[in-house]
Amino acid sequence: MPNILVTGGAGFIGSHLVDALTQEGYKVVVVDNLSTGKVENLNRNVLFYQQSVEDEEMMERIFMLHKFDFVFHLAAQASVSVSVKEPAKDAKVNILGSLILLEKSVKYGVKKFIFSSTGGAIYGEGVPVPTSEATVPHPISPYGIAKRSVEMYLEFYKNEKNLNYVSLRYGNVYGPRQDPNGEAGVIAIFSSRMLKNEEVFIFGDGEYVRDYVYVKDVVRANLLALNQNVSGIYNIGTSIGTSVNELFKMLAQITNYQRQPTYAPPRKGDIRKSILDSSKARSELGWSVTTTLAEGLAETVEFFKA
Ligand code: NAD
Repeated sequence: MPNILVTGGAGFIGSHLVDALTQEGYKVVVVDNLSTGKVENLNRNVLFYQQSVEDEEMMERIFMLHKFDFVFHLAAQASVSVSVKEPAKDAKVNILGSLILLEKSVKYGVKKFIFSSTGGAIYGEGVPVPTSEATVPHPISPYGIAKRSVEMYLEFYKNEKNLNYVSLRYGNVYGPRQDPNGEAGVIAIFSSRMLKNEEVFIFGDGEYVRDYVYVKDVVRANLLALNQNVSGIYNIGTSIGTSVNELFKMLAQITNYQRQPTYAPPRKGDIRKSILDSSKARSELGWSVTTTLAEGLAETVEFFKA
């Protein structure tokens, strides 16, 4: 069985990916500095290094020791608003950290580098929706700029150093284990606050529209990226837009929440509408959405209840 590295494997999406990979019998190593990830998310059958991807010396040692066949790179500063406040901090993790991994991947013969990119923050404002990969990205936040930069480096490493890659541009991913205490992850935040009957805040007018994709569907896209003989950039979304006001209503119904939302000023860096066209992933990866929003929300609320 191939050797696999998952960076960010103690995080929300990474931990679900690690569970799926170990279930399929892969040997998995996780690198995570636990800045937002949690030990309790970690699968017990993996070797875990509590290290930062920014630590070049450690990455050199880990790559030399394990000779990975595949790398899933999910470790990131994943908050748009943090990136707006601290662009240099964001770039250090999201650009320089990624470059260290790319260098090591070339040096130690990694067969494919699978990168977690963003569909929500990469295309920018005013693009046609659902947005396809053919649309030229105009990211408006440092987070989106960093993700796009890494994609451009991926193309450079492919052309110049023969490193095969897949970049998956996710919509708004949601599901069990998403952090309800962060600033992002509206479904986790709403679910957890509604279950405790706490005040729920909506930033702006609530008509910000997003493409919400369930974490298990995102994991399947990663497994397909590993197993299919493909390379390049793929949108991973549902092609369905849902506003925050609609989400509020759906979750209020599931959790039996009776209070009204509190509207607060809009946040910087948030774009108005993002919906992804994933037909390329459908035709080339064989990927499709299997969980509807209603099903995914119900499973997420069950997780937060427990
Ligand atoms: P997350 O914060 O739960 O996961 C990120 C993980 O990376 C955490 O476990 C964190 O501890 C780890 N990490 C951060 N900096 C690190 C560093 N320097 N070295 C090692 N580990 C580090 O977030 P997530 O939602 O699971 O996101 C996973 C990936 O998917 C990220 O790359 C994110 O940008 C991307 N993504 C997420 C979404 C979404 O909606 N959640 C959408 C698009 C893209």
